[in-house]
Order: sequence, then C-alpha cells, then structure tokens
Amino acid sequence: MGSAADFPKIDFTSNFQNIINNALSSTPETRQAVDPSTEELLYHVPLSKQADVDKAVSVAKAAFPAWKALSYDERAGYLGRYADAIEANVSGLQELLMKEAGKPVSNAAGELQFAIAHVRETAKLRIEDDLIEDTEERRATVRYLPMGVGVGIIPWNYPVLLGLGKLGPAVLTGNTFIWKPSPFSPYTALKLGEIAAQIFPPGVVQVLSGDESLGPLFTAHPDVAKISFTGSSATGKKVMQACASTLKRLTLELGGNDASIIYDDVDVAQVVQKIGPMAFMHSGQICMDIKRLYVHEKIYDEFLAAFVQVVKSFKVGGGGDPEAFLGPVQNRMQFEKVKDLYSEIGKQKWQVATGGEPVACDGKKGFFLPPTIIDNPPDDSRIVVEEPFGPIMPVLKWSDEDEVVRRANNTNMGLGASVWSNDIEKAERLARRLEAGSTWVNSHFELSPYVPFGGHKWSGVGMDWGIVGLKGWCNTQASWVRKKF
Ligand code: NAD
Repeated sequence: MGSAADFPKIDFTSNFQNIINNALSSTPETRQAVDPSTEELLYHVPLSKQADVDKAVSVAKAAFPAWKALSYDERAGYLGRYADAIEANVSGLQELLMKEAGKPVSNAAGELQFAIAHVRETAKLRIEDDLIEDTEERRATVRYLPMGVGVGIIPWNYPVLLGLGKLGPAVLTGNTFIWKPSPFSPYTALKLGEIAAQIFPPGVVQVLSGDESLGPLFTAHPDVAKISFTGSSATGKKVMQACASTLKRLTLELGGNDASIIYDDVDVAQVVQKIGPMAFMHSGQICMDIKRLYVHEKIYDEFLAAFVQVVKSFKVGGGGDPEAFLGPVQNRMQFEKVKDLYSEIGKQKWQVATGGEPVACDGKKGFFLPPTIIDNPPDDSRIVVEEPFGPIMPVLKWSDEDEVVRRANNTNMGLGASVWSNDIEKAERLARRLEAGSTWVNSHFELSPYVPFGGHKWSGVGMDWGIVGLKGWCNTQASWVRKKF
C-alpha cells in the first residue's frame, strides 16, 4: 500500500465533471456556483438530468453484489487508501472549499482534517451479528445486511465532512454510494469523486452535480434503496414524502435551534471563551451552533458583557483573509433570508448587545453580515423561534429550572442542547430533561465518528455515525435455525 505522496495529484482549477462508473462524465448543459466572499462565478459544473441519474443508479446497482461480497476488512482497506489519497490532495481541496463555501482558512482546514479522520476512524467500525438465543433446540441471530444503492444528499455548509460522513458508513457496510452535493457547493464533491475513482471499483462511489431539480430524481428513483439526507426540515419533509412512493429507507439530518443553559456557578470569563465560537462558528451556519443562550439572571449582565467582548474579537473576512474567523453567509438566498431577520431589529425594537442591522456598503462584494447578539428578546420573537442559520442570536434570562427546561423544549427542533455548570451532577440531571438528539455538559457540538448524531422531533429521523449510523445503512434480518426436527 502506497504512502499519501504516491497518489496522483488532481487539478483543482478545471475539468469539474460527474463521476459515473469511475469515468469523468460531462453533460450538454453546465452551471456555475458563486464564491460568497466575492460574488464571482466559479467554474462550470455538470447539470445532470434523468439520463445521468439512470446511468449512475444502474452502474451502482450492478456494482453492489461484488462490493457487498467483500469482507468488512477488505472494504475498510479501500476506505483507508481513500483517506490517504484525500490527504495527498488536501491543499487543493482546502483552496476549493474556501472558495465554494466562503470558509476562512481555519474553518476549511478544520473541516478537511476532521473529514479525513472520519473516513479513517469509520473504517475501524464493525457491526457484529447479535446472538439472541442459542439453545440445544434453536439459534436466533440478528444480522445487518447492506441495502443496495445509497444516495447522500448534502447541504452547502459542510460540503466535505457531511458528504464523506455518509460515504464512509455507506460503503463500509457494503452499499454502493452516489453523492449529490448542494448546487451551492458542488466543487469539492466532484473532485473527491475523481479521487475516489482511482481507489474504489467502478460504480461503488459516484458523484453527480446539478440544480435543485436533481435531488427529487434520486428520491423518486425505483432502484435507489436508501436516501441519507442532510438539510433543512422543510426539504426533509419533501424528501420523506417522495421516498414513500417507493418505500425507500431514509435518514434525515435536519435543522436545529440548539439551546444552551448557563447556571450561575460558572466561571464567566472561561465559559464565554468557549461559547463564543460554538455560537458563531461558520457565521452561525452549523446545524449544531448554539442558537438560544439561556443565562441565569444572577450572572446575566456580567455574562452578556463578557460574551459581547468575545464576539467583537472575531474578525470577519473572506477566504483570502488568513486572520478571519467568520466568513460570509454562503449564498444569496440564505443572505436575503438572514437579512430579513436582521430587519426585525428595528421593527420589533430588539435590544442589540453588539452588531446590528447591516449598513449598505456601495460596491462592496460578498455576503457578509455583522455578528449580532440580541439582548433578552421575548420568547415568541422570530429570533428565538426560528433557526437563523446566520451570525445573529439571542441571549435570554432565566431563574427557575423547570421554567428554563420548558422554554428550551418549547420548539419543534431537537438537534442538540447543552448545560453549563461547575456542578456536573446537577447539570447532567438538567441535560437529561432536554429533548434533543445530543446533549452536552460544559460543551456543545462535540462530535466523534464513533458516536451517533441526529435529531429528535423535526430535527431528524434516524442517526448518522457510530454503530447506530452504520446500522442505518443496513436492513435488519432475523435469522432462525432449528437444530432438531
Ligand atoms: P436544503 O434543504 O435547502 O438542501 C439540502 C440538499 O437537499 C441540497 O443538496 C439540495 O439540493 C437538496 N434538495 C433540495 N430540494 C430537494 C428535494 N425536493 N428533494 C431532494 N433533495 C432536495 O438545505 P441547505 O439550505 O442546503 O442547508 C441548510 C440546512 O441544513 C439548515 O436547516 C441546517 O440546520 C441543516 N443542516 C443539518 C445538519 C444535520 O446534520 N442535522 C447538518 C448541516 C445542515
């Protein structure tokens, strides 16, 4: 097995094509996505239609029997080599990720490192059969078998991690996989497909780019066995509806409106340093960013003042700015949506602790918005009720435990939630009462390839990652053996 340096380098500045059956595949029409830091059009990418989908699905279906017949160790070997090949191309991928997602260098580098580690660590996971009963008369075993052709539908905020985070578990468990990136961020996915074509047998990993009409072609396709979707709750409902007609299996990783509850016994100076990045990372465009911060009334003023200082220290800038911590909003549509929320500041007379409505800057390009904290708005205000998915959030006051639990749970969302206190037992007790797929004490959005993550309520169906995530890529089979007639 070669070292990372042995893998051929990929050209990251041209030739963005679909990967079907391990070959570059063009389409008659193409489209371009936009660099959100500059609003300049990026490279042309394929505009896939029904014929491209049909071809990719039939190739994936044909590749499935031989791929599933391999052992876990053999499939894990391919994933290990893929991780090496990605690593050999990491600098080109990083440049591309900064451009397509509007990521400052620290965020792009962090996403790639975690994604590569994710592929490597996922390859170490194994699903064992469950032996339920083994007597003289009979044996009952539960097995987990791959489903067939899987499709990963990916959003634009973490285009590499969320794509590879589905690819690894899908192919490790013996499925073949088609990656459908967001039309807003198709570039790294196509190049990761090109790298995969040098590693995997034909049809095991394929990538197709297109516009917003492409996802529904996969959810409707009769030969796709499983859809693993990450995106908004609104689109997730459409995906679920579409999958019903062919009874596809599906996993939905959807939106969040994560609450974080701060007790009055914390060291304020320490905690604001941690909460700041966890609330504003990637300009609020992470499903698991802290989106509602409940601070005990005894420390509220001190906490808010310190939190504002931390947020003010975050430099906003484009991919080319090495000191920037926060980049732009990723696309024009999201920019207009978040700006509409900022426009409520004046209308609703919200108190602004830092930031505020963006000032029109003539001729300045890029979807940049000022990081903004709203000081104790009403619980029924849009900034509390909606997922902003931009660099604006509320800080809210609480005094009674039962009441703050009720307020934190008073939402259709249930992705993550955290409790911060020096009294771990007390914090864990409170965390257990929160309705969310992940809860943390003295942390937020800690993730691991070994631990499943997903949402309760409208934040999702099923979980990705860890053994639970692997089983999501499998059909369960009960196997009975009668030892005596
Ligand atoms: P989106 O729902 O608009 O799009 C997600 C993907 O679905 C894209 O690839 C898009 O092309 C595709 N799509 C759109 N319509 C479709 C349809 N009818 N059928 C099939 N596919 C379709 O989401 P977005 O704006 O790209 O991402 C932001 C949202 O994603 C936020 O709500 C965020 O919280 C959520 N998100 C969730 C997680 C998680 O793991 N829970 C992670 C990241 C982002």
